[in-house]
Amino acid sequence: MAVRPRRWGGMWDALPDAARSIVKELIIHGPQSRTALAKTLHLSTGSLTRLTKPMVDAGLLVEGEVVHDPVNGRPTRPLDVAAAEHRFFGIKLTSDRVHAVVTDLRAEVIAARDEPIADHDPEAVCRQAKRLLDDLSGERPDGRKDGRSDGGRAGATVGAGVTVGGNARASAQVGGEPLVDAPFLGWSQVELAPLMERALGVPCVVKNDVAALAHQHHWFGPGRGLRDFALITIGAGIGYALIVHDHLVAATEADLGMFGHLVLDASGPMCPEGHRGCAAAYLSSWSVEATAGQGLRRAVTYDEVLRLAAAGDRVCRSVVREAAGALGRLIAHVATVSMVKTVVLAGEGVELARLAAADLDRALTADRRGVPGSVDVVVEADDFREWARGGAVVAIQSFVTGSD
Ligand SMILES: [Zn+2]
Repeated sequence: MAVRPRRWGGMWDALPDAARSIVKELIIHGPQSRTALAKTLHLSTGSLTRLTKPMVDAGLLVEGEVVHDPVNGRPTRPLDVAAAEHRFFGIKLTSDRVHAVVTDLRAEVIAARDEPIADHDPEAVCRQAKRLLDDLSGERPDGRKDGRSDGGRAGATVGAGVTVGGNARASAQVGGEPLVDAPFLGWSQVELAPLMERALGVPCVVKNDVAALAHQHHWFGPGRGLRDFALITIGAGIGYALIVHDHLVAATEADLGMFGHLVLDASGPMCPEGHRGCAAAYLSSWSVEATAGQGLRRAVTYDEVLRLAAAGDRVCRSVVREAAGALGRLIAHVATVSMVKTVVLAGEGVELARLAAADLDRALTADRRGVPGSVDVVVEADDFREWARGGAVVAIQSFVTGSD
C-alpha cells in the first residue's frame, strides 16, 4: 500500500518551511508587525513580505488595522492568521464515550459535545464522528443552533485529529499509517486515519491522547513559550508526556507502562500487578477506590472519594493525602531526572492535588533536597473538552508544520 500524500489542499502542501514558521509564530503568539516577525524569525523584511504575500492572497493570513510599529514607530498593519475561517475537528475516544469539539485555527473551542459511543465497530465510530462534526458545525458555544445557513461562520473544516488512550503507532507494513491498538474499545491494529478521512472528507491525524494533550499545552496552554516541560495525567492510569527543546519525546506503550509503575516507596501499598508502592498503587483511580473502600467498608467511586475528602471525611481525606504525597514524589522524580522546571497535572484525578496541596508540596520539596519552589506545578481543570481539543491541536499542528 502506498503512502498517502498529505492533502491539505491548495497552496498549503507546497509551502516552504520559512512560511510555515511565520504561521506558527502568529498562531501561538498572536498578531505581529512584519518588522517584529522578521526580527523573531531572523528573516529580512524583504523575505518576510515575499513569503507572506501569497498567504495573504490565499486568505490564510490577514492584515489588521493600522497601528504604530512597536519596533520602529512607523504606521503598520500587523499580520495575523485568519483563525475563524479555518476550523478543526477534534475527538477523544474513551471506552464508552466520544468527546468532540470544533475549534478555530487557534484551538479556541467553537462548539463541544460529549456522548456515548453507540457502536464500537471502527466504521460505526467514524460515522458517529461525521454526524457529530455536522451537528457541531452548526452550533454556537452555548450549544444552541445559530440558525445561519452557512453553518455558523464562513469557516470550513480543514482537518481532524482523533486521540485514543491506546497505542497509536506507525507501522512499515502499511506505508506508515498509524495503527491503533485500543483494548478498551476492542480494537487491535485498526487503520483509523484512512477510515476517518473517508467518513469526514478531510485529512485526519491519529495520536495518543496524553501526547496530544501535551501538544495542546505546548502551543495553547500553560506550556506556551516553554521549551521544556512535563505533563502527568492522573486517572484510571498514570499518563506521562515530556516536551524537550520544543519536541515531544517519543514514547512507546511499554515506556508509559514503566512510568505508571515507577516505585515511589518500596514499603507502600500493592498495585494490581503486584508491585509495592508504585505510582499506580497510590494514584490510579482503581487504587484510590480500593483503599478508601477498605477503610469505609463499602464500595466507593473515585469521584465519591474526592467528594468525601473535600467534605472532611477522615478515611477519604487520609487516602487523598497519601496519594497527593505520592504525586509530589513522582513530580520530584520527573523534574530531577528530566531537568524540566514545569510539570503540568491533568486528568480526572487532579482534584487530589488541590485537596491536599500541602501534602504534595511537602513531599515534592523533601525529594528536591529540601529546596522549596524548585518546580512549577500547574494544575489544570479536568474537562472533557480539553482532551478533545488535544485532537484539534494535533490536526492544527500537522496543518501548520506539514508533518504528523
Ligand atoms: Zn505497579
